[in-house]
Amino acid sequence: MPELTPLLQDFLKTPVHSHFMDGDFVSSNSDETFPVINPATEEIIAQVSLGSMEDVDKAVVSAKKAFQHDSPWRKMLPDDRGKILYKLAEKIEENKESLAQLVTLENGKLLRDAKSSDVGGAAKTFRYYAGWCTKIEGETIDLSQPQKGGKQNFAFTRREPIGVVAAIVPWNFPLSVASWKLAPALAAGCTVVLKPSEETPLSVLLLAQLAMEAGMPSGVFNIVLGDGKTTGAALTAHPHISKVTFTGSTHTGKIIGKSAMDNVTGISLELGGKSPAIVYDDPIDFSAVAKGVAAGIFRNQGQVCVAGSRVYIHKKVFDKVLADICHEAEKIKIGNGFDETADMGPLVSASHRDKVCHYIDQGISDGASLVSGGRKIYDKGYYLQPTVFSATDNELAIIREEIFGPVLVAVPFDDLKHAIQKANDSKLGLAATVWTKDISKAIKTINRLEAGVVYVNSPVRSDPNLPLGGYKQSGIGRELGKTGIYNYTTLKSVNIVY
Ligand code: NAD
Repeated sequence: MPELTPLLQDFLKTPVHSHFMDGDFVSSNSDETFPVINPATEEIIAQVSLGSMEDVDKAVVSAKKAFQHDSPWRKMLPDDRGKILYKLAEKIEENKESLAQLVTLENGKLLRDAKSSDVGGAAKTFRYYAGWCTKIEGETIDLSQPQKGGKQNFAFTRREPIGVVAAIVPWNFPLSVASWKLAPALAAGCTVVLKPSEETPLSVLLLAQLAMEAGMPSGVFNIVLGDGKTTGAALTAHPHISKVTFTGSTHTGKIIGKSAMDNVTGISLELGGKSPAIVYDDPIDFSAVAKGVAAGIFRNQGQVCVAGSRVYIHKKVFDKVLADICHEAEKIKIGNGFDETADMGPLVSASHRDKVCHYIDQGISDGASLVSGGRKIYDKGYYLQPTVFSATDNELAIIREEIFGPVLVAVPFDDLKHAIQKANDSKLGLAATVWTKDISKAIKTINRLEAGVVYVNSPVRSDPNLPLGGYKQSGIGRELGKTGIYNYTTLKSVNIVY
């Protein structure tokens, strides 16, 4: 393990990490705390306050105050807002090592992935949306109804910031998923209360510190720490929240959607996936395809919303491609995320690994063939082997439910129609990949797939410029890209009669 940066050593000395509001870290109203555990060693690395309803209320009041019309944030020119976001992107990059080490400590992922996906991804997202601050525009509109008394008119729309945003995020990419919400919301001129996952609450606290250094006015970006059922639920139900933006499981998304609806609060939901990969039988490089399919499921220990967790392989090449995928899985070196030679780290928690193992047991008892992996390894840490099943029955739980771990199920298909029918036979529809050199087959497949994101000949990788979101129970709305900014604006129609 490399030496932790001085900034991080200092940060980890804090006896109890607490909420961030009105530009400062403030102690909790409640004495309740919870531990943050390093999944690689099972050691407690920090204690964190469990936010009460009062803490949530204080954070929302802070965000509401910062959103008042005469506040520094509301009066700020878009160009100046953009400069702060740009500066924050630079600060994130300057502090890459500290942030990435903290993400690895709290989540277990490889340090190099923490650097590229979490820290690099967050910096790119803030920079992308920094540019959007000056490009939020309404339209002028010619009306069809004549004005009374021969008067004339001038009608237009304004895009205004929606208000105080509640952002609730999961643990799999603690910094980058938070930035997918913070950056566009702040670019639009909103203020935010963020609730990170109870598994990974630490790295966003460092981010808040950097936001202040970048010149973010007090109260614009707030954090409440805590669990879902107490802190998260209090936040989504708060009457002064104008928009709830949630990333997490479909199960929680449904609860949050119902709670937000009680106040008719706007919502966007980025939920679970059970994404198919379709491998056709063209004369393509099947070993390269197997590498891509394996990367698509085993990256980040399979804890990726867009992970390709079902692979449909043409029956003519099924055995060859499956053998190549297993070969890739068996090459993976499992170890501490700080070990530079490791390819895969531990899962995020003991309970999550137990859940994944339960699915593996169920796959076996339901009659799927376990062709590779399937076992816990090492005495300490929540490690699990990359696991590959082969099956023919699309009804198995391991094919229908999101496992969110390093578990792949391979199923043969006969032709394009059959592949698409199996791929679409799911209540989820987040992403899909298609592996072929035949352009017409690729386009036919793209057009018929019920998925919000489709990649051809590559595993899915998020990008700040490209919208991300799901069909069916994988979510409501899209984030990232141009559409991401509109999640945080509301439209005002104006007609001036003269
Ligand atoms: P989760 O739903 O258990 O928790 C997500 C967040 O919601 C956490 O911060 C949690 O504390 C909070 N929460 C839980 N119950 C709540 C409640 N009743 N009210 C308010 N907040 C509540 O999900 P997780 O296990 O942290 O993350 C894994 C899930 O996230 C997977 O399903 C994955 O597919 C999904 N995910 C989706 C995307 C996407 O872009 N679609 C991206 C990343 C992860």
